[in-house]
Amino acid sequence: MVNSLSSGRDAYNRVLTSLENHHEMVKKSLPLIASENVPSPAVREAMASDFGNRYAEGWVGERVYAGCKHLDEVEAVAIELGKKLFHAEFIDVRPVSGVFANLAAYSVFANPSDVLISCTIPTGGHISHSKKALGGTAGAIRDLDVYNYPFDEENFTIDVDKTAQLVRSLKDQGKPPKIFVLGASVFLFPHPVKEIVELAKTYDAKVVYDGAHVAGLIAGGIFQDPIGDGVDAFTMSTHKTLAGPQHGAIASWLKYAEPIKRAVFPGLSSNHHLHAVAGVAIAFAEALEFYPEYARNIVINSKALAQALYERGINVLYEKKGFTESHMMIIDVTKYGNGFEIEKRLEDANIIVNRNLLPYDKRMGRDYKAPGGIRIGTQELTHLGMNKSHMVEVAELMKKVIVDNEDPVKVKAEIAELRKDFQKVKYCFSSVHDAYEYVKIR
Ligand SMILES: *Cc1c(COP(=O)(O)O)cnc(C)c1O
Repeated sequence: MVNSLSSGRDAYNRVLTSLENHHEMVKKSLPLIASENVPSPAVREAMASDFGNRYAEGWVGERVYAGCKHLDEVEAVAIELGKKLFHAEFIDVRPVSGVFANLAAYSVFANPSDVLISCTIPTGGHISHSKKALGGTAGAIRDLDVYNYPFDEENFTIDVDKTAQLVRSLKDQGKPPKIFVLGASVFLFPHPVKEIVELAKTYDAKVVYDGAHVAGLIAGGIFQDPIGDGVDAFTMSTHKTLAGPQHGAIASWLKYAEPIKRAVFPGLSSNHHLHAVAGVAIAFAEALEFYPEYARNIVINSKALAQALYERGINVLYEKKGFTESHMMIIDVTKYGNGFEIEKRLEDANIIVNRNLLPYDKRMGRDYKAPGGIRIGTQELTHLGMNKSHMVEVAELMKKVIVDNEDPVKVKAEIAELRKDFQKVKYCFSSVHDAYEYVKIR
């Protein structure tokens, strides 16, 4: 991939050149990966600050190091805003990512060999909810015994009645579940939170809502209100529809505050990426101010993009349910190739997506290397200010690559042209610098 390195200086120059080239590429691309976003310049400023060089073990005001005055001020802001945005009595903003937040919840609510119920990966589940045999965090790291929800593929949702039957039979086998995980990586429609909370209560089990993807939509007051609907913990990533830095958080109730705090520190971290905590505080502040509008526009755009692709013959799934109620959609591309081939073709045109398993892929003998689908999300393009009419242009560009097999180099040039007008982050307090501007501080 690279020629061998002749010296430290050579390596240094190559890394910095790659960083600059990456920025040049992203500026001219259509970033459509549903789990990513571009944060505001203020979040990037926090990420470049000295906070990232410090330790602040322990809780705000009770640190085990000196020098934490300003770190404490900022983390206190993040906590106050997080509780407000997610209607929670308690939030811990120290988990360094969504997976760590899930692991913290697993360790508070279950012991090794206890039963956890989650979605399979083809029905949207995340690897951190998965079985030992797949290397999933719940099974392989916490040693939980993972069972999967019966799934209503037709409506792309958890089948609550069949889940009740499954749980009854698990109980009869002496294996009552301890944790129900809701939330997903392919998350098109709200999950049946109230119903699962009700069911969990009868077994004295806990409900963990993994809102990694939809935290920004929830902060904006759309999608669903997991804490309000009674889940025990709401884990999240802070960098998907919530356009903060890559980090995690876990919102919950006061009665679980102490065990969650202990699970996060000392259990799962020593330093907790304090530059990212500052970025999260800023993202939460932006969410409070701007997300009712941003989140609404994300969903408007994803419905518009889905519709425009569908009208161009591209098989966006769940048309009869309006395609999506979130930032993302799932597309069956098997008319044109497999998900891997289509992902590569789009990449050649600078349209960045990821291949994805479809709910029925396993039955068709397809696996994650060459699945039948791609997944795309509108949160980043929306953050750059694109609206419904731009979604039609995006659909047309995608069609040129997927359906018409046009020369990707030509499409790439058209994308660079379209992107010229969308170089600043919207829905934030200040955007003096461009979204993908490469900031040199050497
Ligand atoms: C992205 C994702 C996560 C966590 O990812 P991190 O990179 O660890 O923040 C967790 N759960 C779901 C459902 C996800 O999609």
